[in-house]
Amino acid sequence: MSTQLVCPRCEQDYVQPYRFKADGAPFLLCTECDSLWWPSEAVKVAQAQFLDDVVAARLGIEGNPWSDRVWADVIQPEQEASAGEGAVPGRNDRAHPFARTETD
Ligand SMILES: [Zn+2]
Repeated sequence: MSTQLVCPRCEQDYVQPYRFKADGAPFLLCTECDSLWWPSEAVKVAQAQFLDDVVAARLGIEGNPWSDRVWADVIQPEQEASAGEGAVPGRNDRAHPFARTETD
């Protein structure tokens, strides 16, 4: 099967391929400790970033990005993203047209 890497930070779970819904940017995520790795980086503790920090930076906000959104608003598992889509990079938004929550 696919290569399964155990998270080097918490060693409690495998890192999973995810992507950002906004632009399809892929990354690896440990859902146990929310560690994030970019595909170009080694999956090691020194390279680990926190999902919260990355999401906050991408959204241009400070602090906790999850006060008014959930993971599913921002990221999705690679499997889910490519299911039925032929795994076309960055073109997965057709299945979820503008599912953003913009309630003020
Ligand atoms: Zn972990």
